[in-house]
Amino acid sequence: MQIHDAEERGKAQEAGGGLALAQWENLIPRPSSRFYRVRCISCGGEQIIFSHTSHEIKCRTCGEVLAEPTGGKAEIKGAIVAVLG
Ligand SMILES: [Zn+2]
Repeated sequence: MQIHDAEERGKAQEAGGGLALAQWENLIPRPSSRFYRVRCISCGGEQIIFSHTSHEIKCRTCGEVLAEPTGGKAEIKGAIVAVLG
């Protein structure tokens, strides 16, 4: 019963849009698969890397490993300079 009420309130906020919607989205936990713009710590080159890549990503320029798969979210070795949707 309480859960149902909360859902109804959520829909009402969504309909309101704007700030309320942004706040609501922050409350929803979800697997965050994203793309990162990663800077190679070795040569400074930047590359787009999928956060949940299933294979090793190496720098196009120097071959430095930028991301290693872990089974879930990849381990990013370089510096993340931007997170892309
Ligand atoms: Zn590099």
